[in-house]
Amino acid sequence: MRKVIFLATAAMAMAACHNTAKVPAIDMANLDTSVAPNADFYQYATGGWQKAHPLKPEDSRYGAFDMLAELNQKRINDLFVEMGKSTPVQGTNEQKISDLYKMGLDSTRLNAEGAAPVKTMIDKIMGITDRAQLTDIIAQMHMSAGNPFFGIGVGADPMNSDKNILQIGQSGLGMGELDYYLDAENAQIRAAYRTYLGKIFNLAGLADTTLVTRVMNIETPIAQKYWTNIQLRNIPAQYNPMSRADFEKTYDAIDWATYYKDMGIGEFDTILVSTPSSLANANTLMKTAPIEDIRAYLAASYLTSAASYLSDDFQQAAFEFYGKTLSGQKEMRPRWKRAMGVPDGVLGEAVGQMYVQKYFPASSKEYMLGLVHNLQKALGEHIAALTWMSDTTKIKAQEKLAAFHIKIGYPDKWKDYSSMTIDPKKSYWENIMATTAWYTADNIAKFNKPVDKEEWGMTPQTVNAYYNPTTNEICFPAAILQPPFFNPDADDAVNYGAIGVVIGHEMTHGFDDQGRLFDKDGNMKNWWTDADAAAFQAKADSLNKQFDAIEVLPAQGDQPAVYARGAQTTGENIADQGGLGIAYTAYHNTLKDANGVEKEPAKIDGFTGDQRFYIAYATVWAQNITPENIARMTKLDVHSLAKWRVDATLRNVQHFYDAFNITDGPMFMPVNERVVIW
Ligand SMILES: [Zn+2]
Repeated sequence: MRKVIFLATAAMAMAACHNTAKVPAIDMANLDTSVAPNADFYQYATGGWQKAHPLKPEDSRYGAFDMLAELNQKRINDLFVEMGKSTPVQGTNEQKISDLYKMGLDSTRLNAEGAAPVKTMIDKIMGITDRAQLTDIIAQMHMSAGNPFFGIGVGADPMNSDKNILQIGQSGLGMGELDYYLDAENAQIRAAYRTYLGKIFNLAGLADTTLVTRVMNIETPIAQKYWTNIQLRNIPAQYNPMSRADFEKTYDAIDWATYYKDMGIGEFDTILVSTPSSLANANTLMKTAPIEDIRAYLAASYLTSAASYLSDDFQQAAFEFYGKTLSGQKEMRPRWKRAMGVPDGVLGEAVGQMYVQKYFPASSKEYMLGLVHNLQKALGEHIAALTWMSDTTKIKAQEKLAAFHIKIGYPDKWKDYSSMTIDPKKSYWENIMATTAWYTADNIAKFNKPVDKEEWGMTPQTVNAYYNPTTNEICFPAAILQPPFFNPDADDAVNYGAIGVVIGHEMTHGFDDQGRLFDKDGNMKNWWTDADAAAFQAKADSLNKQFDAIEVLPAQGDQPAVYARGAQTTGENIADQGGLGIAYTAYHNTLKDANGVEKEPAKIDGFTGDQRFYIAYATVWAQNITPENIARMTKLDVHSLAKWRVDATLRNVQHFYDAFNITDGPMFMPVNERVVIW
C-alpha cells in the first residue's frame, strides 16, 4: 500500500564517485541540444547523459537515480570492509553485519557446501505423502523461506488505522507476474523458466524429470485466478473482513490451529482477506491437486528463495532466468554488491544509524523541513483554486494536508536487533532463514498491539521516498537528500525541479486514486462528495487513455508492440503531474518579495529559472534500460517508465510550454486534450 517514487528492484552498477567534488547544478554535457525541446524533451534534457553512460553488462537499467544508489553502496561497503578489520564483540550489530557480509563473500565455502544447506528441508518436502503434512511445511516456509499458495502478515486496519490486524492474500508465483504464465507471447519466457526449474532441481539432487511440469501444473492455475496489478489498485475491493470461524470454514485446506501455533499467531476474532477469489483458488489447489505436484511446487518455491545464498551454480541458474531472461542483464553483479546488499537489508536500521552519522549533515534536515513546508503551502493554494472540487471537499482536503506526518532523514527510535542471531558456524542460507523468521516473528508480534506510527517503512540509506495512507505520512530517507535530487550548491530552480517535485509527488499520493479514500487520520472513509469523486475519476480516466496510447516497445518478430498501462500507473502519473505543478508554484513563491512581486532570477548557463526547473526534473529520470526490462517493468511497475514520466507528463503542463516557447511539435498537446488534476 505504501507508495514509492520508483521501484527499488534494479540491479546497480559500479561508477566512479567523488564525494568531495562539487556537483554542478545542471551539467550541460547531460543535454542533447541536437534535439529540440518540442520534439522530445526527455532526449533533449538527458540525451547527453544517456550517451555518456551506456549500460554495463551487469545492468538492466541504469540511471542518475542508480548512480546515487551506487555511490551509497560503495559507502556502505566501505563501512563493512572497515568493520571486518577488527573482531567485533559477539552479539553486537557490528558482529552480525560483519559475519553476514563475510559469509556472502566466501565463495569457496559456499561452493564446498553446494546443496547441503537445503537438503534437510528438501528431504522433508519431497517426503510429503499425505495432505495432512502440508500445514506444517507451509507454515515453516511462510516463517522463513517464501510464500507458497498465500501470504499472511500483520498490518494497520485500513478502517481503524490505530489498530493492527491479521491480513491474508494471494502469493506464490515463481515468475511473479501472471502474464508470464498465460499470454501467448510469453512462450519463450515460460520455456526459459522450465529450463531454470530443471537446473535447480538437478543441482538439489532431484533427478525426477516430471518435476518441472508438476510445478507448472500448480503455478499456471494459480496465475489463472490471480488478481492483476490493476485489480490490486482497488483498495475497497480488498477490504474483506471475515470472522475467524467463517474464514476457517471457507478456506479449509489448512489445519489452521496448527498453522497459527507454528507461526506464533495468537487469539483473534477478525482477519482481512485481500483477494478472496484467488485465495479460494489456492485453497482448492491445496485440497485437490495431486500431492506429487504440490511437492514439486513447494520444492521449487523453497529452492528459488535459497538460490541466491547457495553455491555459484545455483546463483548462476537464478541469474540466467531472473537476471538475463526477465530483465536483460548480461552479467551478474559483482560479488561484493550481492554480499553487501544482504546485511544492508537484514540489519537495515543498524546500517542506517552508521550511515547517517557519517553522511547525513543536520543542515540537510533543516533545509528539507523548509522545503516540505513550502510545498505544503503550495498544495494548499492549488486545492483552494481547483475548479472541479466543491468547497465541502476542499475543507476536508486542507485538513488532511495540514495533518501530514513528516519524516525526514532517519527515525527517532532505532530498531532493536539484539534478539537476532548471526552464527557463522551455520551456513549462509541457514542464517538467512533465521533472520527471515526473526522478521516474521517481529511482524506477528505487532498483532493486537496499536500501530507504531513512529516506525519507518524504509531505511535511511534507501534512495527513495514514500507516502503511507494509513498513517498519512510522507517519508524522505537521508539517502535521497543528495544530488541529483537535492544539491546544496544548486540554485532553487534546480532543487525545486528535483527534490521539490519528489516532495509534491508524495504529497499528492494522499489524494490520488488510492490516497483519496483515506481521511486525515488514515482511516478508509469517504470524505468526498459524489460529484467531486466523479469529476476526479473522469480526469483520471482521460489521463489513463493518454498513457494507454504510448507504445513503449515496437513490435519485433513474433512479439507484438508493448503499450503503457494507464490504469496500472494512474496514481503515479497523477502524482508526477501534481508534484510538478505544486513544486513550480512553491518555487515561484520563493521569488516573491514582501509585497508578493516576483523577481525573475538571472539566467544561468543561458537558461531561465523555469527552464532549469524542468531540465532538473528530467535529469532525475535520465537512464538507459534494456528492452527486456521495459517489457517486464510495464507488466509489474505502478510507475511509468522514466522517459514517459517526463515526456507524457509534461505534455499537460502549460508552464513547461511557456518556459521553452513551445507552440507546436510532437511534444505539444492542444489545450482541450490536456488533463490537469491538481
Ligand atoms: Zn509515487
